[in-house]
Amino acid sequence: MKTPENVVLHVADVHKNFGGLHALADIDLQVEEGKTHAIIGPNGAGKSTLLNVVIGRLAPTSGAVVFDGQVLTGKKPHEINQLGVSRVFQTPEIFTDLSVLQNVMTPAFAKRDGAFKVNIFRPLDDEKAVREEAEATLEDVGLIDRRAVGAGSLSRGDKRRLELAMCLIQKPRLLLLDEPTAGMSRHDTNTTIELLKKIKSRGMTKVIIEHDMHVVFSLADKISVLAGGRIIAEGLPADVRGNPRVQEAYLGGAH
Ligand code: ADP
Ligand code: MG
Repeated sequence: MKTPENVVLHVADVHKNFGGLHALADIDLQVEEGKTHAIIGPNGAGKSTLLNVVIGRLAPTSGAVVFDGQVLTGKKPHEINQLGVSRVFQTPEIFTDLSVLQNVMTPAFAKRDGAFKVNIFRPLDDEKAVREEAEATLEDVGLIDRRAVGAGSLSRGDKRRLELAMCLIQKPRLLLLDEPTAGMSRHDTNTTIELLKKIKSRGMTKVIIEHDMHVVFSLADKISVLAGGRIIAEGLPADVRGNPRVQEAYLGGAH
C-alpha cells in the first residue's frame, strides 16, 4: 500500500459489514497534511462508521487505516489518541460534575501521565502550567468567562465548544469532527465556523463530517461524498457542489 508523502491519514480499501449490511465498501480516503477534508452524505451513508473505524472504536472487516506512516488498524482507541488523533463526538463527552476549567485540564494530565492515570503526587507548579494552558484554550474557544461553572450547566453549543477545547489542549495532529454544529443555533454555528477557521490557520489537519452545507463550503479544502457506504464523488468544493450525482444522492437524500 502506497501513501503519498503529504498524506497524513490514509484509509486504504476499507470495508465494514454489519451482518449483511455493507456500511462501508471500497473506501479509499487520503487526507493531506494541514487540510480540512469534509465528508458529507445523507443519513445512513456510513460517515460515523468511517470515523469510528479511524479512531479504533470499530474494526474494519477488511482494509487498513494508516496515520503518519503507522498502521492504526488493530490499535485501541486510547493508543490511537496518544498517537495524535483526537475526535469531537456527535454527542459531547464531558465530565458534567467537574467545572469547565477542570474538564479542559483533565486531558492535559491524562496525556502526560498516560491514559487516565491519576497522580496525586503531581507537583503544584506543573498543575499551574496546565491550568494556564487550559485557560488559554478556553479563551480560544470563547468559554473563559464560564471557567468556574459546572460543565453540566452549559448550553448545548457551549458543551460542544468545551469538548473542542478538551481536544485542542491535546494538540492533536489530526482532529476529527462529527457534525460539530449539529443542534446549534445559526449564531452558535457561525461562532464555531470562525473558531474552526482559526484552528485551520494554525495548520492542524481536520476531517469534518457535516450536514450543514454552509459549514462545509465555509471550511473545506476538499470534499468526499459518501452515499450507501461508498465514496461517489470527491474534489474541490466547487466541483462537488455542481456534480449531478452528488445533488441526487445528497441533496435528494433524507437529512
Ligand atoms: P451516518 O453517520 O452517515 O448517518 P452511520 O455510519 O451511522 O451513517 O450508519 C451507516 C449504516 O450502518 C446505517 O445503515 C446504520 O444503520 C448502520 N449501522 C451503523 N452502526 C451500526 C451497528 N453498530 N450495527 C449495525 N448497523 C449499524
Ligand atoms: Mg452519523
